[in-house]
Amino acid sequence: MVTGAPQTMRERREELTPMLAQYVDVAERYDDCVVLFRVGDFYKAFCEAADEVARICELTRIEREDSTGTYTACGVPVDNAPKYLRRLLDADYRVAVADQVEDAEQASGLVDRAVTQVLTPGTVVEEELLDEGSSTYVACVARDPGGGAAGDGPDEYGVAYVDVSTGECAVTGGDAAVVDEELARVAPAELLVGPAVPGGVADATDCMVTERDPEEFAPDAARDTLADYGGADRFAPAERVAAGALLRYAEYTQGDDGTLEYVRRVRRYDPRRSLRLDATALRGLELFENHADSGRTLFDTLDETRSALGRRRLRAWLRRPLVDRERIAARHDAVAAFADRTLVREDVREALASAYDLERLVGRISRGRATARDLRSLHDTLAAVPAMREALAGVDALGEVRAALDPLDDLRSLIDEAVVADPPQELTDGGVIRAGYDAELDEIRTTAREGREWVADLEASERERTGIDNLEVGYNSVHGYYIEVTNGQLEKVPDDYTRRQTLKNSERFYTPELKRREDEILGAEERADALEYDLFVDLRDAVAAESDRIGDLADAVARLDALAALATVAVERDYTRPEMGADGVHLDRSRHPVVEETAAEFVPNDAALSRGTVALITGPNMSGKSTYMRQVAIAVVLAQAGSFVPADAARLPVVDRVFTRVGASDDIAGGESTFMREMRELTDVLCDATPDSLVVLDEVGRGTATTDGRAIARAAVEFLHDESGATTLFATHYHGLTDLADEYDRVVNRHFAATERDGDVTFLHRIREGAAAASYGVEVAELAGVPDSVVTRAHDLVAADRDGDTAGSAPDGAQRTLDEVATNGHGRAPDAANAARSATAASDDAVADLLADLRGYHLAETTPLEALNALHDLQRRAEDAASDADAGGERP
Ligand code: ADP
Ligand code: MG
Repeated sequence: MVTGAPQTMRERREELTPMLAQYVDVAERYDDCVVLFRVGDFYKAFCEAADEVARICELTRIEREDSTGTYTACGVPVDNAPKYLRRLLDADYRVAVADQVEDAEQASGLVDRAVTQVLTPGTVVEEELLDEGSSTYVACVARDPGGGAAGDGPDEYGVAYVDVSTGECAVTGGDAAVVDEELARVAPAELLVGPAVPGGVADATDCMVTERDPEEFAPDAARDTLADYGGADRFAPAERVAAGALLRYAEYTQGDDGTLEYVRRVRRYDPRRSLRLDATALRGLELFENHADSGRTLFDTLDETRSALGRRRLRAWLRRPLVDRERIAARHDAVAAFADRTLVREDVREALASAYDLERLVGRISRGRATARDLRSLHDTLAAVPAMREALAGVDALGEVRAALDPLDDLRSLIDEAVVADPPQELTDGGVIRAGYDAELDEIRTTAREGREWVADLEASERERTGIDNLEVGYNSVHGYYIEVTNGQLEKVPDDYTRRQTLKNSERFYTPELKRREDEILGAEERADALEYDLFVDLRDAVAAESDRIGDLADAVARLDALAALATVAVERDYTRPEMGADGVHLDRSRHPVVEETAAEFVPNDAALSRGTVALITGPNMSGKSTYMRQVAIAVVLAQAGSFVPADAARLPVVDRVFTRVGASDDIAGGESTFMREMRELTDVLCDATPDSLVVLDEVGRGTATTDGRAIARAAVEFLHDESGATTLFATHYHGLTDLADEYDRVVNRHFAATERDGDVTFLHRIREGAAAASYGVEVAELAGVPDSVVTRAHDLVAADRDGDTAGSAPDGAQRTLDEVATNGHGRAPDAANAARSATAASDDAVADLLADLRGYHLAETTPLEALNALHDLQRRAEDAASDADAGGERP
């Protein structure tokens, strides 16, 4: 990637034209950026930078020639800039935009240019480049090796993040696990990594990683930077460094004279004050990203917000559910109050729909980038606040948020008195400030208007005075006002006319009075524009000075919208208010909020798990195990986020963490070292789960050979029961595990069953007490058409396995294989069955060999290509066995 000053230009620096020399200067100051230079209606890049921009943006390169020789240039049209800037950002470029900062007509020689913005994936503030419903963060991780007061403790990390568009900035600290978790929750678009931070940290996110000068991570530099943002007395050393270096970088991205004044405060927070969800849990429950069938996330399903503010707030609530019972209860009270009052809800949501994005408006106003239209948008939003307050009157549970809805009457009327209702987009065009706002402006405008009226009357009076009845008065921008007389009438022209311009059929004149009026009008217009601009900037500064109050209002509006959205979902989809603080999870007829939206007919299920219970869930593939476990976990997350839950009744605990782990083989398409990852994730669960945690383990141990997998699964269940004490849902295809319920008090069996209907396997999706029949898989194999001899043999092996239940014994392996052949990959079962049907007793041994090899195959250590080759080989041998059988091949 070419950033900074193009090499070829630096070499020829002495010979460059003034503008190109200016380009090199800027590019050297912004040496990690591609520099775009405003030239006319284009943003231009030169030399190597031009090649790069042309390639990424698919624009044409132009060969240029001047006194210094030839070079390439590439221009991004200013009107279309956002589209091209987006492409550059998506390709992980930083872009420094240098604008003309003096009027080209006034400049003597080269126009002065300055960098007005540095665009990076995590710090963009341009509305066209931001997603309105989610926050764009840049984060920073710093490490304090051997942290703690004595300097001999374990490593401590600081994580800070900022949304430059709104000024939201926060910091926290802790061990490496906290870093992983916070990066997963914040999901930054860009990450700064401090000097001593191990490489693995950045690998955890897939965002752009930015390197900065290590000096910026020096403790003193960080302290200095933070002094401008409310200080950092309470921060741990690593937190201070993270926040300081981050804000330093954010300042840099504001260009040569940008400001971050609106970032008034760096909020410090404790991740333990919210329900902890790590990256695996966020992914496993599909809160914000989905990988599977439905294409929808939990957030999509809940998003009934009406404003960008509310949308971002709801997202934040779901990312950080609460653990404080009082706060949870307050949210439930508020949702209930809305849910019970249809009219209140509708009135509020209607008012919310006209709310602009207050947080980003404040950001633009404070950065000095707000237009007159932005101020009008602020006005219109403030004007909607009284309707919200009105609607909420008398609703006790919403009294607190109502009180925070300050309509800021003083600001609203200030803006209304100053700015016209529908101002032009460009400030420099004038016509922004209302009549009556400023006496001086009114006077200047009166002068201009009277002058124009005088000119308007001139035509009639001059016709009369001169007797030239086709005389015309006009204006053009080069020559100004004129009196036009056609050639035939020229002899009637009076003495006080001076010739201004000769045309083909006429002459144009002016009079001394017309000239005087013209100067007066043009002078007045110019002064009016300049004065309007000054008045507007003063007004903008006055509004910016109130940004704290606007921020408080924005917070209230965001909460209101999120609450109204949750209530809307609760009413429209029949959610119920959970009773909190129960001992364990108790759900009547609960549903999966996302699957129920798409499933033709969703079958509700109960859950009754007292605290510390390990529920082993068995049943064939596709019977509903994963869906069930997720819906239980989602109910817990929703409840703590303040939402009602999809069930007829719910009594839920307040949990400290939700863990989810999905067995590796479900994920094989991901192509990662799956078994290793699965085991690492299992380690986290086993080490970190507490009696207050909820654990969902889905087919753990699947990524390795049966013997090992089964042993690991059994040991994990025992550990969770004896040591962790976490309330656990554990889906497993190792039916042998179900006898754990006999040995352990708090291990219970549940299962999903299937039935045969018209020769097809039908899943009831209904959870039941007890374990699935161990031979269930064999029965499905039978349904699928596996030959009788194989089925009979399988039943024998299952029986043998039950008698001597030793992990890893040959019979267990055989049973497992048949289970999997029959019930695993849905559409594939018939093919396997056909292949098996072709094999007669004659090829039993070949089939047994084949199965033995299949069983011994270590998937987790295999690349996709190797797996494909192995599959090809197995298929060939299966065909050989089948044709042997067809040919009546003999047993060796
Ligand atoms: P398993 O984990 O047992 O293989 P899943 O939970 O993945 O099964 O469910 C398989 C499919 O069955 C899902 O895609 C879903 O569409 C459907 N399903 C699951 N549970 C239910 C239910 N309770 N009601 C209706 N359909 C369901
Ligand atoms: Mg599953």
